Amino acid sequence: MKRFTASLFLLLVQTTNGHAASFKTNCCNVENAPEWLSSYTLSDIATEMESKLHWSIRRVKVVFHNTNQSFASASNLNFIAAAFFSPSRQAIEFSPQKDLAEFTPTFRHELVHVISNQKFKDSIPRWLEEGFANYIGSKRKVDYKWLAKQSLPKASQLSHPSTDDGGSKMHYQLSTATVEMIAGTCNFDDLLMLATGSKLTNYLETFCKIKDLDSSVAEWVVKKSNGYAVPLSPINFAFYLWMIQISFKK
Ligand SMILES: [Zn+2]
Repeated sequence: MKRFTASLFLLLVQTTNGHAASFKTNCCNVENAPEWLSSYTLSDIATEMESKLHWSIRRVKVVFHNTNQSFASASNLNFIAAAFFSPSRQAIEFSPQKDLAEFTPTFRHELVHVISNQKFKDSIPRWLEEGFANYIGSKRKVDYKWLAKQSLPKASQLSHPSTDDGGSKMHYQLSTATVEMIAGTCNFDDLLMLATGSKLTNYLETFCKIKDLDSSVAEWVVKKSNGYAVPLSPINFAFYLWMIQISFKK
């Protein structure tokens, strides 16, 4: 049974088929969507990312796989991923998603890849791409404590999570740490505006005063990791003891 819904901004066509639905929004042709995902929710997420990155997405295909096996054979990745974006097919493909809470950050992440491909083209270098998608999209945190214990490859030599010698975890963590370092040094939004049509790296030295990216990232990782294990000074220690005593007296 087909149901047609029109709104001022969206023309949504939704067909229901048991637990799966296919529908079309401004950003996406969605196939086999889980029942908890409405076209409106998907549109809201896409609109937020479009507004954040000042871009109207040219419609992409969004496909939900029913099984991990079917997703794995479509993705051909050598590490566990929740989704991937294929630039050649302009398609986002999802592994089976549990619920909206799991789906939302992943969808945001993949939409950054879509916009990076459609708007920034090759302005965003490969070593920055995953960090960029994590930082802007999924807001995944960097485990600086873990990174600081690793032998760090050069951030500027990162290529792809499935091919880098350091493995996919290193790729995502170091790339995201690099974006955090850049964003902590200069205005990342301004940098992105400048980068449209040109290499973002061309602006790093001029606007962010980052002369040597690799050594700057390595220093940044050490600095951030120290925040996890700040030794207590005698004054702080005495203060905490005093607080504990007060809370026991109450
Ligand atoms: Zn990604």
